[in-house]
Amino acid sequence: MFFGTELVADYGTFNADAASVAAALQARGIGPGDRVAIFMKNVPDYLIVEYAAWYAGAAVVPINAKLHAREAAWIIEDSGATVVFATPGGADDLAAIQLEIPIIDVSGDDFADMKKAQPLAVVTPRAPGDMAWLFYTSGTTGKPKGVIITHDMLIGMALCYFPDVDQVRAEDSTIYAAPMSHGAGLYNLMHVLVGASHVFPPSGGFDEAEIFELARHYGSAHLFAAPTMVKRLTQMAKASGQSGTGLRTITYGGGPMYVADIIEAVDHFGPVFVQIYGQGECPMAVTALSRSDVADRAHPNWRERLISVGRAQSLVEVMIGDAHGQAMAPGETGEIMVRGDLVMPGYWNNPDASAKTIVDGWLLTGDMGFLDADGYLTLQDRSKDMIISGGTNIYPREVEEALMFHDGVAEVSVVGRPEPEWGEDVVAFVVRAEGSNVDEAALDAHCLDQIARFKRPKAYFWVSELPKNNYGKVLKTELRERLTEMSDG
Ligand code: AMP
Repeated sequence: MFFGTELVADYGTFNADAASVAAALQARGIGPGDRVAIFMKNVPDYLIVEYAAWYAGAAVVPINAKLHAREAAWIIEDSGATVVFATPGGADDLAAIQLEIPIIDVSGDDFADMKKAQPLAVVTPRAPGDMAWLFYTSGTTGKPKGVIITHDMLIGMALCYFPDVDQVRAEDSTIYAAPMSHGAGLYNLMHVLVGASHVFPPSGGFDEAEIFELARHYGSAHLFAAPTMVKRLTQMAKASGQSGTGLRTITYGGGPMYVADIIEAVDHFGPVFVQIYGQGECPMAVTALSRSDVADRAHPNWRERLISVGRAQSLVEVMIGDAHGQAMAPGETGEIMVRGDLVMPGYWNNPDASAKTIVDGWLLTGDMGFLDADGYLTLQDRSKDMIISGGTNIYPREVEEALMFHDGVAEVSVVGRPEPEWGEDVVAFVVRAEGSNVDEAALDAHCLDQIARFKRPKAYFWVSELPKNNYGKVLKTELRERLTEMSDG
């Protein structure tokens, strides 16, 4: 494990520290059946705490360090965790709201003492179906739900990664620039399995220049990045003349990647990109779009495939279902359904939500999409984001894709606005590209060139940024609320 370029622990030390902290946890009565919350920024001790909890037989509850202490406390309470590990600021914030369980600050003496405990001699055995990770969904609407991720789901996800997403070797490294409570953190497993390096950027977050520097230093680096991070990396690289030396693989996913952005990214960095589509309920493992699918422009279906999220990963089946859960033909749009070993057993303490989400063994993802004849899945939108105008379905993603091809548009989000005659009409919130003064007339003409007339936005709102949650997902609910407030006002 490295903090920047400094080695902080080799695998021997990593293992010994985890075994000591595990023994200290067991001495405090924490073991199988318990939950250990982690409210930490990305630091090397993150992995020590995580593996310590597993060695002790407990499950982890990773919480996004960017959440407010009260939001974190809600998750801690919902999970029933009996201890929380935190990095300094988070520990103070939790203490200030008088959390009722022990808070262990990983920069403090208590944690240093735990690392000195007599190490646990053997890892506490767990059954494959026992919970390993309680994953709180990022909550773009309402309260997050806890997804039960079992040990065998984690093992399956990690082993599937090698054939489906990317090979990893001991000489490779992974850079943790996205929150470890989510995808980037789940991907630690594949890198532990092969003994690769784990690199924690000293900035503690996503800093383009730092990533380029670390990648150059390590020479064969992997990065998990949300599409917005990929876009920022491309822009910064182009502006500063960087070529991304040392970036071997960038796995992207977690939100829509617009075609205009991925083309620009591949043009600049070369064939380093692999896309994954997943959700907490089937972590990182629904589909993958391979490196060659992304980069192979000579393929006759390259463009269609680039818009897609690829094909089902090895341990799941993907089906498109109609309103009654019946399979639909290739090309027809319906709800994306997933079945297989990597699908969650259910939500934590929430049988109603579990019963609505897993029906006859199929996970109802809430995402809409279609399969092509070769099994490539194209994601449209969350079903609740679909716009119905005059009885016709309009997928915001398609309108966003078109608008993103205009040079004057940096970011865009399209939502439906209630309208008495048509039910809903299409409106766009646009962040202009730097220095651009693109206007409604120009974008309207651009849309007429690209998509059917009825799909083009009836109104544009110019904003300096789009509202996003802590994982960078656009909060369409908030945009719709703004529209309601405008019409009320
Ligand atoms: P979460 O459970 O918080 O990881 O959120 C999962 C949701 O993010 C999915 O249901 C999709 O709506 C969205 N998502 C994940 N991966 C992709 C992707 N590659 N392209 C578009 N949307 C994605």
